[in-house]
Amino acid sequence: MSERTLAIIKPDAVKKKVIGDIIARYEAVNLKPIAMRMLSLSKAAAEGFYAVHRHRPFFDSLTTFMSSGPVVVLVLAGDDAIKRHRELMGATDPAKADQGTIRALHGTSIEYNAVHGSDSPDTARFEIGYFFSEMELAVR
Ligand code: ADP
Ligand code: MG
Repeated sequence: MSERTLAIIKPDAVKKKVIGDIIARYEAVNLKPIAMRMLSLSKAAAEGFYAVHRHRPFFDSLTTFMSSGPVVVLVLAGDDAIKRHRELMGATDPAKADQGTIRALHGTSIEYNAVHGSDSPDTARFEIGYFFSEMELAVR
């Protein structure tokens, strides 16, 4: 079943000049970009996006990191996109991520881990709506 998921190429990966490499990996496994934008998140916008983590000890550090430079936000579409994208990303901690995953290749710590991916259909709906309007999602 075709699904949509939200991906973010985080500030660390943009600084490392691996935007193109990461998008090529999505395309190589038929996770098709159907909407995409580069932007700089304010601290408040990062806090809103990561609101589920607001009570975690790393919340302030994470939202400072996510607002430290430009990010690329994308909607990826494809069969079983949410789960397949999480597999392609690898574990949250790059040191524990499987070889060949994006985080193993481009992440440098559990915080600076290069990419974000929605973790469930409900999360994907919230996260896609956070960045994209219906009109921007009309691409086929
Ligand atoms: P994931 O991005 O794999 O879904 P989480 O939702 O648990 O992971 O965490 C969101 C983001 O917060 C992570 O991608 C990472 O950037 C950061 N993070 C997670 N755990 C930690 C931690 N223990 N210390 C610092 N940052 C963390
Ligand atoms: Mg998560």
